[in-house]
Amino acid sequence: MKLGAYTFQPEKAQGFDFQVLRVKPETGIRLVPVQEMYSNVAVFADNVAVRNHPDWISQSALGPAKMGNNNFNIYWDMVCATQPEHRAEQLNYIEDVNGQSRGVWLNSQYFADHGHCICPRCMMLWKKSDLGWLEWRRRAVTEYVALVRERVKKELVLGIQPDPVSSYERYGVDFDDLAAYADIFNVVMFSKNYATPWYWEMLTRGFKKLLKKPFYVSFYVFGPGDNPKDVPSVSELLTVSARCARAGADGFLYLADGANQLRNFQKAAFAHTELRERLRSYGDQPVQEFLDYVTSWKSIV
Ligand SMILES: [Zn+2]
Repeated sequence: MKLGAYTFQPEKAQGFDFQVLRVKPETGIRLVPVQEMYSNVAVFADNVAVRNHPDWISQSALGPAKMGNNNFNIYWDMVCATQPEHRAEQLNYIEDVNGQSRGVWLNSQYFADHGHCICPRCMMLWKKSDLGWLEWRRRAVTEYVALVRERVKKELVLGIQPDPVSSYERYGVDFDDLAAYADIFNVVMFSKNYATPWYWEMLTRGFKKLLKKPFYVSFYVFGPGDNPKDVPSVSELLTVSARCARAGADGFLYLADGANQLRNFQKAAFAHTELRERLRSYGDQPVQEFLDYVTSWKSIV
């Protein structure tokens, strides 16, 4: 059981096995990597790239992959996954970032969602391929991840959406294909609340059954600019972590703007003595390991 800090700010939160810095989040801004942290790169979700090159945006019959197109769960702008200049530039960027940090974690290294992308280039590439539409998309994603793997000599962690059933149809993601290149998977389960942990536990069991590599689950603690009233409660986070631990997750990441929010979370988690005792009855070794970890946050001040 490993625990990681996942932050937007280049600050090393204490009391975790490792730290992941969002050097290029979906907004497209770029931070300087930190040698002792892992670097997280959103590949095709990139507001800056789309702003600079509006014709690079991923297209579908339900409109482009633009923030505000409510046909999709897209909260940023996404570049078409076959855009050659973006693909090449991102490969160089990923290699560069890899050299300046402990390793690389990717997000959005796949198509925007179902029905993407039908831009003229994608239609031409698909027809030339002699493959079915979904198989062509799968190959486009897998071949790109193979190119990434050649550039990342350290640890490579591949992000996947919290959809164990339809990731192939939606994103062109085949878990077995990606397992050949990933050291670890990161299943992003961000939510503003975890009031019904049953669902997250079920998703974790699904991924445990399907993934051929270890996987972490990422939870949402406190995003940039969040109102403290709108973020998950500490008791929800402790409970959902214990339940996903017993369902087979190999570790957890906690997303926050910076180290300060994580410190507040750790202190509050340790202070939940009664809940921590109750969660001891939720499962054997993985649950106990997680709770021991929370106990070790006693030293966080
Ligand atoms: Zn396209």
